[in-house]
Amino acid sequence: MDRESVIEAAATHYSENDVLELDHAISVATEAHHGQKRKSGDDYISHPLQVAATLIDWGMDIDTVIAGVLHDTVEDTEIALEQIETLFGRDVAFLVDGVTKVSRARAGMRNLDSYLPQTTDNLSKLLIAVGQDVRVIIIKLADRLHNLMTLSKMPSDKRVKIARESLEVFAPMADRLGMGRVRMQIEELAFSYLDPAEYKKLKNLMKQRLGKSTRKLGYIRQEVEAELKKNDIAFEMDGRVKSIYSLYKKLKKVDGNIDDIYDLMALRIIVESNDDCYKVLGILHALYQPMIARIKDYIAVPKPNGYQSLHTTVLSKNKQIVEFQVRTKTMHEYAERGLAASFHYNEQKSSDSYTKKKPGATSLPPNLQWINELQEVASHLKSGEEIPRDQLFVDLFSDRIFVYSPSGDIYNLPEGALPLDFAYRVHSDIGYHTYSFQVNGAIHSFDKPLKNGDVVEVVTRKNVKPKADWMELVTTSHARDKLRSQLNKQESGGIFASAADILQGKAFRKK
Ligand code: MN
Repeated sequence: MDRESVIEAAATHYSENDVLELDHAISVATEAHHGQKRKSGDDYISHPLQVAATLIDWGMDIDTVIAGVLHDTVEDTEIALEQIETLFGRDVAFLVDGVTKVSRARAGMRNLDSYLPQTTDNLSKLLIAVGQDVRVIIIKLADRLHNLMTLSKMPSDKRVKIARESLEVFAPMADRLGMGRVRMQIEELAFSYLDPAEYKKLKNLMKQRLGKSTRKLGYIRQEVEAELKKNDIAFEMDGRVKSIYSLYKKLKKVDGNIDDIYDLMALRIIVESNDDCYKVLGILHALYQPMIARIKDYIAVPKPNGYQSLHTTVLSKNKQIVEFQVRTKTMHEYAERGLAASFHYNEQKSSDSYTKKKPGATSLPPNLQWINELQEVASHLKSGEEIPRDQLFVDLFSDRIFVYSPSGDIYNLPEGALPLDFAYRVHSDIGYHTYSFQVNGAIHSFDKPLKNGDVVEVVTRKNVKPKADWMELVTTSHARDKLRSQLNKQESGGIFASAADILQGKAFRKK
């Protein structure tokens, strides 16, 4: 990537002043990295330039792009953060600082197997940076993507480490942010380095299969197109091919039998409105026999990362199984770009918009609530204090579920979360006075995990207080954090949880 291409790309999206400032940043970074080389032999500056180009492509705001250009300067050159602040302002400096901290945290994460104290401390820094401004992680993803693309130049031991870390940390992170396209790019590259033989084998298998099914799909596609036109529906249709890594994961689930995988290639129909999505679904089901168990309404009930679409798998007249995905343009945009879709080139946002100092003062969608939560937990950490590593993994990388309050408010929790996690998420006072739970209208014990889609009602009693053994009945850092401080307060006030209290707690848990 060269300077001219970056400036040219920027000129079509940002104001003249913004482009001048970007140009200035490129001069500063070029000077700072002067003489440094990438493992490929290229001048080092080619890397931050590529990161900036990627961020422009993702439609990020100019501060993020400038921070992308400067992202390795504080870590790897003589430039100090203060200089960046003087030259480019507080927000750019904040972002560069965040990325620098994440890089250091990453260095710690590579040693996850050997549990060193500084490891979790580094991870805490990562949390703080991500919690304070999600743009930090978006820059990190652009950085990681380019490092993966140039990974073949690295020595093989480093290659495996970086590829594994990408699969275990960065791909789930992209997924969590709803950035489907980036997640897939990271997974494909990382997997091709981790298991080159398997990657090649599956790629060939896919090629053979697709050759056959593309021809057969052509007829179905025409049939559907004609029917949609007859119904006056404006649409675009294309074929989406399953990624090699997701094929690999799916094959493991079906004992390696590729004939059991129905969505190697799916037909994707993009329409104008939600109504049209359901109309198209109706048309498809009138045309072909749907497989009932495979109808998914992710519009009414989005996936926990915010993904929306209708999915259906049908049996064509000549007994071919075809998957369809139906969504609006907005849904499609979100599925591909996720969080990044909420940024628009010229719309300036300051770091303050992403720094959630007060709980509840959030503008992030429900599926991104975890970002605020991490921020809050991190802000309670005293210096030197750490969140246990296992806990961090629950918070950061586990799958997520959605649960609802009886009034329909939606809450995003890690998979395996217990009812008390929910109570504390709603409000720490609710957690404090929890007497029992009703889930989907039925009594639910304290130690039974919640499931996606559960409606959870917390029954509170004024005279109930938290018990010490509740610590075993929460899984999220957030709930743990709140509960611990409540227990400490009780203790310092001389009110110890009595044996009777604990017994009572156990008694109603069995109800
Ligand atoms: Mn970098």
